[in-house]
Amino acid sequence: MSITDRYISEFPKSQAKAALAREVFPGGVTHDLRIMQPFPIFTASASGAYKVDLDGHTLVDYWAGHGSMLLGHSDPLVVEAVQKQMALCTHAGGNNELELEWGQLVQQLVPCAELVRFTGSGTEATLMALRLSRVFTGRAKFLKFAGHFHGWHDGVTIASDPPYENLSVPGVPDEIAKNTVVLPPNNPELLEATLKEDSQIGAIILEPTGGHWGAVPIRGEFLKTLRTLSDKYGQVLIFDEVITGFRVSPTCAQGYYSVRPDLTTLAKILAGGLPGGAVVGRRDILSAIEVRPGKVKVRHPGTYNGNPLSAAAGIATLKQIAAGTPCTQANLAGRNLRNRLNEMFTREGLSWIAYGDFSMFRLLPNYHGPRPEAATGDANGFIPYEGDIEKLDGPADPKFKHLFRQAMLLNGVDMPGLGGWITAKHSEKEVEKTVNAVRESIRMMEAK
Ligand code: PMP
Repeated sequence: MSITDRYISEFPKSQAKAALAREVFPGGVTHDLRIMQPFPIFTASASGAYKVDLDGHTLVDYWAGHGSMLLGHSDPLVVEAVQKQMALCTHAGGNNELELEWGQLVQQLVPCAELVRFTGSGTEATLMALRLSRVFTGRAKFLKFAGHFHGWHDGVTIASDPPYENLSVPGVPDEIAKNTVVLPPNNPELLEATLKEDSQIGAIILEPTGGHWGAVPIRGEFLKTLRTLSDKYGQVLIFDEVITGFRVSPTCAQGYYSVRPDLTTLAKILAGGLPGGAVVGRRDILSAIEVRPGKVKVRHPGTYNGNPLSAAAGIATLKQIAAGTPCTQANLAGRNLRNRLNEMFTREGLSWIAYGDFSMFRLLPNYHGPRPEAATGDANGFIPYEGDIEKLDGPADPKFKHLFRQAMLLNGVDMPGLGGWITAKHSEKEVEKTVNAVRESIRMMEAK
């Protein structure tokens, strides 16, 4: 039986629901990452490092709520906090004590967070960060890097996915697109030349571990260069830590690498798996949201900003992260998984490689270059193809990806593509299962 035939026969309930979903949602899904052929699975419940689908399979999970569940699914303290708050008040509107406690925790943990403004999502956070930057500098343009994802609003959606030379996005007017300047990552000379030449660039935004959370890794050295150059040429430096925030370390990537941006955008882990985001940073930039006599006021409403349910989940999550162990545990599991996969690829003579930093990993098939030494620190340190964006984060073959995902699901692992997010609950046992599943899936694909 082919992989796809087996997949269809083993996930019948998901297949039936997916057929119904196609009548409701464009493409049958509610997020682009969820697109999968011949159909995606439907989740019934999740706990720790696992999810259970409608057909009753218990699967090692590497979606982790699109990277938001660092503590693992259904963390007892988060569940308890949300249940308690749910009964008290879902959302009354107006201020609440929990948003204050949540904001104070963010202030304590994130080095640049002089002030905090909650938003409804990561997309809203990057939208506000860029608007605040424009008000602060009076410059219309911002600079971003190819392959860096900052949500889906007009200016940032440009060059977030390949092909990167195409700066035209359906539905985004040219007048808006012309204010987005795109550069390849990790090229300090080109960056300086661009900043020197274009005095209308008022902000630089980036994912601090690299585009698509590290497909083309960025390391501390480039972050330090960014800080130096943005100081020299007067740009607001924005770290988009929607994924890396509270994942890389309790003090985020900026704490780990000791580079302080002017603004930071947060979401995902910030809100403990519930919806929520924040823009945090310098007081003199964020205070444009305040009412100040004679000064510009940046408007910022948002029904769900700082709502008590997200605050309850966020507090219960951040308190555990502040204690220090979840990030360390997830990072160790990440290093272990990457090392064990690479050992297996070498042992089995497979032309695949695993790479990534912290608690994030990626797989590359058809790889024939040098191989990493076993990792010794938190970051694996190895960058395949010397960081070539076309090779690491260029156009993917969707057929191959979907087939691999089907094979992995048949082997008990759910990955959102050729990589995923690791939680503090992924232990030796789950790593072992995953390595076996990858080996078996590659074997199945080679045999087809
Ligand atoms: N920035 C980054 C780095 C992200 O990864 C994401 C979401 N994956 C966003 C912004 C947008 O966040 P949200 O989905 O909450 O709008």
